[in-house]
Amino acid sequence: MKSYLEYILCSVCRRDYLVPTPSNASTSTATPSLAAPVPFYVTTCYHEICHRCLFGTNPAPNPLDQVKLPCPACQSVTPLALLVTNDPTNELAPFFSDVAESIDLAKMGLQHQLSSLMNQVDYFKPKCSDQKKTISRLILEVKKLKAYKTSARTLYFLISSIPDLTSLVLAKRERETPITDRLDASSR
Ligand SMILES: [Zn+2]
Ligand SMILES: [Zn+2]
Repeated sequence: MKSYLEYILCSVCRRDYLVPTPSNASTSTATPSLAAPVPFYVTTCYHEICHRCLFGTNPAPNPLDQVKLPCPACQSVTPLALLVTNDPTNELAPFFSDVAESIDLAKMGLQHQLSSLMNQVDYFKPKCSDQKKTISRLILEVKKLKAYKTSARTLYFLISSIPDLTSLVLAKRERETPITDRLDASSR
């Protein structure tokens, strides 16, 4: 499939951006060279313009990103960027990359991200279910402990309501001893 670069022409003079390399220009399968003999510029009005149509024989203003010029194709005042297509790190590279290839890459990226997330889900899912079981078991334990606490409290009240053994014995003895004996005992 032909690259988009092979279709780039100056929007004003229709000069080709790519030119066949001299060594294989004679063959029909000649691959156009990336090294354009004339620099091209990109505008924000979606035009690609050759150096000659913008600046004639003058050099480009330096620095280029400080200037805004009327586009010779549509007259919009536009900033310019040098068209660089042989450097994948150039910020304009995505504009001229193979869109089908980019979609394939995006698909692979999406596949990777989804699979990675699914792996995480697969790892945590059984752990969550284990934790649910543990929590249910703990809730049961807490309920049991609450029941024990209630029973213990009831027992405590029962025990504390029973008079202690010594006072029971003394009261019994008092009831059984005749009053005269008790008086004798106290006067002695
Ligand atoms: Zn031109
Ligand atoms: Zn324009």
